[in-house]
Amino acid sequence: MDNRKDIRSLFLSELSGQLEALGIQKYRAGQIYSQLYKGIDDFSGMTNLSLSLRQKLGEIYYIENLTVREKSVSKIDGTTKFLFETRDGEYVESVMMRYEHGNTACISTQIGCKMGCSFCASSRLGFARNLTPGEMLSQIDMISRECNLRVSNIVLMGIGEPLDNYDNVIKFLKLVNAPEGFNIGYRHISLSTCGLCEKIYSLAEEKMPLTLSISLHAPFDDMRSEMMPINRRYDIKTLIKACKDYIEVTGRRISFEYALIGGVNDTKECAAELIRLLKGMLCHVNLIPVNKVKESGYVGSANQKEFISVLEKGGINVTVRRKMGADIEAACGQLRRKYGGQK
Ligand code: SAH
Repeated sequence: MDNRKDIRSLFLSELSGQLEALGIQKYRAGQIYSQLYKGIDDFSGMTNLSLSLRQKLGEIYYIENLTVREKSVSKIDGTTKFLFETRDGEYVESVMMRYEHGNTACISTQIGCKMGCSFCASSRLGFARNLTPGEMLSQIDMISRECNLRVSNIVLMGIGEPLDNYDNVIKFLKLVNAPEGFNIGYRHISLSTCGLCEKIYSLAEEKMPLTLSISLHAPFDDMRSEMMPINRRYDIKTLIKACKDYIEVTGRRISFEYALIGGVNDTKECAAELIRLLKGMLCHVNLIPVNKVKESGYVGSANQKEFISVLEKGGINVTVRRKMGADIEAACGQLRRKYGGQK
């Protein structure tokens, strides 16, 4: 059995401490650490270290590197979609999107998802396990290497529910933010959740100025519970209260994601209720044209324009998510599914 530790999941301070305990000079930690961010796959590539130290490190640690299994580049907008394979043969999806404001990596936080949202492709294959901080970091590393660019923004909007893998996600955020690591500012990071309220309170206490996105998708409890089982545990009232408290503690604007589904949540009544729920909050609504997932039967809405105009008249800021990578099925959940079916 492989008892080696994942060096990518460690803070520099943790690595220094561990090396010191092994009788290795502490200053080596910085030397080793900086190379983890220079596209090195294993310790043999760290040629500024002695051979014996490289061997010793290789006995204790491994460098987490996901393997690229599939890479598709959109001809429309350069969006690049990745399917990575983990050490234990699981699949992870990530997407790189080129926006004017920077290169945005959309990464996964779990292998599969437990949340069971009716419209989402990620739930269909069930849940395998949480991703480690090192595996999340490796998605950023591989995207930078494969696309030959610096990732400037991160959205935790791939497969999985980030707040259901709370400790690993928080550690990943700290690692990716560290000056000796990728040095990506929290203001350039968005975390999306289906609404695990207790964890929203914990996140507020982390004092990370990231953007919290809430997948709301429906303004009425019966409708939301049908689409998103999590609503049976935390209803809309509880969720909105958690959001208001989050805004109060952090001073940060929340983004409410709303996938507009024809004949389901695109009515005047829905718009009016949405206004009632969100009025006066430091927030905006991000409308997502729903992506078709075969079994759900959901279709896009013909009322998008009208829906937006009602919300705006009601004093709610609305943005519409741009569709990226339409020619490569860039929406999440599709690829792991394709492979999972063959496994
Ligand atoms: N579990 C987290 C992170 C996933 S983010 C969350 O629920 O927020 C992925 C985003 O895409 C979420 O807002 C999700 O609700 C949305 N989404 C999932 N399937 C979709 C579909 N078929 N069409 C449009 N948006 C979808």
